[in-house]
Amino acid sequence: MGLTRFTDKIYYLEHEAEVDRPMLAYIKGNRFSLAVDAGYSTSHVADFYTALQSEQFKLPDFTVITHWHYDHTFGMCAINGISIAYEKTNEFLKDQQEQAKSANYIAALKQEDVHFRKEYRGCDRLNIVLSDITFSDKVELDLGGITARIFHTVSPHSEDSTCIYIPEERVLFLGDSTSEDFFHNGYMDQEKLGILMQMIQSVDCDYCILSHCEPLQKESLLEYLDSLYITD
Ligand SMILES: [Zn+2]
Repeated sequence: MGLTRFTDKIYYLEHEAEVDRPMLAYIKGNRFSLAVDAGYSTSHVADFYTALQSEQFKLPDFTVITHWHYDHTFGMCAINGISIAYEKTNEFLKDQQEQAKSANYIAALKQEDVHFRKEYRGCDRLNIVLSDITFSDKVELDLGGITARIFHTVSPHSEDSTCIYIPEERVLFLGDSTSEDFFHNGYMDQEKLGILMQMIQSVDCDYCILSHCEPLQKESLLEYLDSLYITD
């Protein structure tokens, strides 16, 4: 699978529903490049980097993590360059590291999640690493002719959700932040959803990019989220 060009400066490797791999994005500055999410596994990273190399793109200088869930982070051990995450993401990853010390952990994940079983077929150990840089609220990267504004957001999906706003391209990366919380029986916290919708509304963008679907126009995403938002 090759890279998809979204704008002159934004490319991505598409999400794969059968294995629940999220999309991995690439923001191409004149000086530095930034990847959005590390991916599910070493082989997910390898597929992404092969796609980058076939376009003659250099490997990412930085990789920012949208949240700790394993499909977004367990590839972090194999990335090129420096990883960046919200401080709470590292706390969650530290907890994953602890759990993975038990040899049963990978077996338990395979048991629970058919996608995990497919992604880690034939593999019996995990290498979970923390990010190199953490931020506590927001951080801005000047990639050369293009900026990445990285910030934490309230989200119903996970406590550590991070967004990346690219003002020059009017694009907002949202990770999985608009989804319900799968680790708590798919609970959709309406208050958090409302705050997230206000945040999206306030960002001056045309497109919103979620990790597990095609890029959406901001208005269609807000319309969809509005249909999930129950007010009384
Ligand atoms: Zn997630």
